[in-house]
Amino acid sequence: MKRSMVYLVGAGPGDPGLITVKGLECIKRADVLIYDYLVNVDLLKVARPNAEFIYVGKQGGAHTLEQEEINALLVKKALENKVVTRLKGGDPYVFGRGGEEALVLHENHIPFEVVPGITAAIATPNYAGIPVTHRDFTSTFGLITGHEDPTKDESSIDWAKISTGIGTLAFYMGIKNLPYITEQLMRHGRSEDTPVAVIRWGTTPQQKTVTGTLGTIVQKAKEIKPPAITIVGEVVKLREQLNWFETRPLFGKTIVVTRSREQASEFADQLYEYGAQVIEFPTIEIAKPDTIQPLDEAINDIQSYGWLVFTSINGVDAFFQRLLELGKDIRDLKGIKVCAIGPATEDGIKKYYLKVDCRPPRYVAESVVEELKKVTTIQGEHFLLPRADIARSFLPQELLKLGGKVTDLVAYKTVMAQPKDINLLDKIKNGDIHIITFTSSSTVRNFIEILGEKNIAALNGNVQFASIGPITTQTAEEMGLRITIKADEYTIPGLVNAILESVTSGTEKT
Ligand code: SAH
Repeated sequence: MKRSMVYLVGAGPGDPGLITVKGLECIKRADVLIYDYLVNVDLLKVARPNAEFIYVGKQGGAHTLEQEEINALLVKKALENKVVTRLKGGDPYVFGRGGEEALVLHENHIPFEVVPGITAAIATPNYAGIPVTHRDFTSTFGLITGHEDPTKDESSIDWAKISTGIGTLAFYMGIKNLPYITEQLMRHGRSEDTPVAVIRWGTTPQQKTVTGTLGTIVQKAKEIKPPAITIVGEVVKLREQLNWFETRPLFGKTIVVTRSREQASEFADQLYEYGAQVIEFPTIEIAKPDTIQPLDEAINDIQSYGWLVFTSINGVDAFFQRLLELGKDIRDLKGIKVCAIGPATEDGIKKYYLKVDCRPPRYVAESVVEELKKVTTIQGEHFLLPRADIARSFLPQELLKLGGKVTDLVAYKTVMAQPKDINLLDKIKNGDIHIITFTSSSTVRNFIEILGEKNIAALNGNVQFASIGPITTQTAEEMGLRITIKADEYTIPGLVNAILESVTSGTEKT
């Protein structure tokens, strides 16, 4: 019998990579996920698809649910014999009211476990180039709430002791009270020259750091809004040398990925690793063809073909999935040669335990024909091309001209994705987006369809466009978009490189 369980899990400070292995397991295992404002929602992607998601975020003063209601919800869901994972920002027991939630579970005899997380006071200064201890500067480190009401008669913080008794001080939730906090510290003996850093949305691509001293930080950080943490102490000086995160090449850049949701993550992950903020804005969706009959006929007669030619990874997946659905497997492909247009397509084929016999040096149809001519006699050979409904006619036509027999069929369909409602056009006009990427002609066409042809002029002036290859570039330019970043190698890593080069050489518009 299934038994109830509540995991109180620290989700870490923002960077989704900073959750523990154990915490991630608890997300995968959950029937119900209850999560806060500071939890990175990307972490929820690993949850079971039929899990229940409940957002109970508190943002500033506005609570979606009061703490008592959250406690009651945990108990209620657990008593339904469910595995409940309660995700909290940072560590559950550091200013996270995790202690209160655990006590309520204890009182209700509900089994629970608490998974620690990396707390903001450790992770965010790190990502701002500040080690919280360093033997040359400090041997002590204190975590303090900055949320205390300054009009309270008696403070529960002993300002006299912490001001001079602790080296590095981290104030959580202290932005509103920053004038009060700095004043208390100076009044109780901490020098006004003590370095201070205020870090907002630490460990994420939106991280913003402001530095000053106890005497100057209030003025300097007046634009900073929560969530932010304040770090006080000599260690802040090390930021000048140790600021590894904010100096990554794409930090501060917002880049839009327009390819399909299924294919976006590999590309998005690479950009993210270089520090970019990535917005996934899928413009295409991959769907089954209107009729599957031609593909079925080809598969049933597969031994009449000499070559299978794949020009996209979607074509590979569509073909092999159907092969398996029809009760066949790769043994039925014995003797048939395989061609892949580029390395990603080749990798897709290898996943089905087949090797590729031909791959051109340039990843376009023109180069496929040239390469095929080198490795086989086209005349009289029978080629199967499982492709998209909108694939170019160049490849089949050329093979036909050279005397080949060609079966060019629709293995999958590219349809326009339902546009995501994220005010992309406004963001572009405001200069909040730096680069928009295109990885196929259909991403270009659908992007323009979604944003509106009449807005093309406004787009060109406000954002840069990046293209994976010459055909995509040509489509974009014919439609009036100016492509300023072009991949030398027509692959995702090639496009990432072109973006890096453009940004680091400073040719991009900022
Ligand atoms: N349990 C959390 C803290 C919750 S209190 C933890 O262990 O980190 C919320 C406060 O944490 C915010 O007001 C802010 O001061 C701090 N905080 C949490 N995440 C942060 C982040 N990514 N960047 C800056 N401050 C953060």
